[in-house]
Amino acid sequence: MRYPFDNYRVTSNYGDTGPNWSLGYHTGTDFIGREKEVKAIIDGIVRVVTYDTNYGNYVSVGTLEGKRILYCHLSSVNVEVGQEIKEGAIIGIEGDTGNTTGAHLHLEVRVSPYASVNTINPIEYIEENIFHTGIDEIVYNTIEELPPWYKPTIQKLIDKQLLRGDENGLNLSESMVRVFVVNDRAGLYDLDNLCS
Ligand SMILES: [Zn+2]
Repeated sequence: MRYPFDNYRVTSNYGDTGPNWSLGYHTGTDFIGREKEVKAIIDGIVRVVTYDTNYGNYVSVGTLEGKRILYCHLSSVNVEVGQEIKEGAIIGIEGDTGNTTGAHLHLEVRVSPYASVNTINPIEYIEENIFHTGIDEIVYNTIEELPPWYKPTIQKLIDKQLLRGDENGLNLSESMVRVFVVNDRAGLYDLDNLCS
């Protein structure tokens, strides 16, 4: 499991509400990649390649565990129906086709039966399954900003005495929280050997 870009920012989260979305809430996560090649987040078989007035040019990939991963608003598509793809394969190029105000990737994860109402949070899905092997530094200004899916990682760092925390996993008396998150996809660090 991986993110759809090597470098990116998230411009809209799953579950955001507003009039822009036909269901009244955002059914996926919006990314803008620094590089524009959209990469497969997980292995699967391409089930749909089509154009939709909302999703634009999109690709739907069926995973072994029975989910559907939708890569939407693509400017061009690099795969065809029936093709078996591996994690990291280039699905297409980020674009602004369909209902969008600018170029971005709408990543959507559907569970069976595959309707737009049957979605889950793509970032939580990735974070639950991604293989973390090293350390990046991420600074959060407040504890509230900290995404809940980092908590197991933070606990691991506390256990290894790489990070001081309390029962909530962090030193709550500090106004600025500096957290080292295990998030190095290049595998430059070996967490198990960082304890000195
Ligand atoms: Zn979106």
